[in-house]
Amino acid sequence: MSRIVQKFGGSSVADADSIKRVAKRIVATRQAGHDVVVVISAMGDTTDELMDLALRVSPRPAPRELDMLLTAGERMSAALLAMAIADLGMTARSFTGSQAGVITTAQHGNARIIDITPGRIVSALEAGDVVIVAGFQGVSQDTRDVTTIGRGGSDTTAVALAASLGADHCEIYSDVDGVFTADPRIVPNARHLTEISYEEMLELAACGSKILHLRCVEYARRERIPVHVRSAFTTSDGTWVTDLPDDDAPGRPVITGVAHDVGEAKITIVGVPDRIGEAARIFQEISSIDVGIDMIVQNVSAVATERTDISFTLPKVDSRAAIEALTGIQQEVDFADLLYDDQIGKVSVVGSAMRSHPGVSATFFAALAAADVNLEMISTSGIRISVVIDDQDVPRAVRAAHTAFGLDADQEATVYAGTGR
Ligand code: ASP
Ligand code: MG
Repeated sequence: MSRIVQKFGGSSVADADSIKRVAKRIVATRQAGHDVVVVISAMGDTTDELMDLALRVSPRPAPRELDMLLTAGERMSAALLAMAIADLGMTARSFTGSQAGVITTAQHGNARIIDITPGRIVSALEAGDVVIVAGFQGVSQDTRDVTTIGRGGSDTTAVALAASLGADHCEIYSDVDGVFTADPRIVPNARHLTEISYEEMLELAACGSKILHLRCVEYARRERIPVHVRSAFTTSDGTWVTDLPDDDAPGRPVITGVAHDVGEAKITIVGVPDRIGEAARIFQEISSIDVGIDMIVQNVSAVATERTDISFTLPKVDSRAAIEALTGIQQEVDFADLLYDDQIGKVSVVGSAMRSHPGVSATFFAALAAADVNLEMISTSGIRISVVIDDQDVPRAVRAAHTAFGLDADQEATVYAGTGR
């Protein structure tokens, strides 16, 4: 008998029938003798729909009110799931994030979980109830307001609860059979991974893979919680994200996966004077408005002008704020111009075996060239190479890299549900 945390994503509870199906699965786990805590996402595309609705009511909704609105999505599915479980003869109790003791920072839309005080969850478990927690939300320690923890955040709620409740592992149920070598919606013959290290999963999530929320993987790695990512539509084994040794077994592909991201934009600051402190000034400004940036590229300055260009990428949603902030320091820094491009995409290849295998960039860039893809920016880490390209070229580039690194499987992956929105 152990404590299990199970998280079900929005596509697993898209309508009344699927809610009933998920309820049966939870009841089966409880009947097998486990204490079950379920973290639930909003039904289907509810979060996107609520967001669209808010923007139709107001062009710039107050972040506090947006969080009040969006958290309602998870609250609905939690209550519905508790009703469905009760109908199967088992007692279940739903909790909002705040009731479940999920304490966060105050930053609406992207708050961070700082603590969990699971008193009410533990009492409900002790009373024999199945506990359902609304994912993606908490309550700010400082303001006492309801917060959300970033899109896809229910994964993080689940791992954080698993850690605080001392669960053996955390199960994340989704609409595919686990982690694949690429998004099966783009590469139909992507290969299923039976296991992957925290480190590689972290890179894939940071590079746009949507299968797990980035902070969920960070949390899992820090707390050493094994995460089992699997399909809500079958009982087959999924992918274990664990503390895998960073081994280099013969026959193991150099690249573990290819990730892509079309949610970013590129800003180029043209003609920055080649003086000590300019980059510091520019990025202090960006960080002061709380915008997280990704790739930064700066070249040597031209001899004739002693000026250079600095390009960086950032989430599209933060672009307007960043441009306003940079325009505000244009005179002070004395740069010539700002260029903005949101028609870009990023493609990354990730693999810890890259450390001991030279030639990965050559293979990657040759595959992209053969697929007629032009590279706008390049960046690397110890276990990753990323390129920024035209967004139209992203699917072609992902497929070319996947084939070039020998990752294509013989059969097609199944996508059971979801619109991929
Ligand atoms: N419902 C939220 C979203 O769509 C959170 C989640 O599903 O994890 O982003
Ligand atoms: Mg998700």
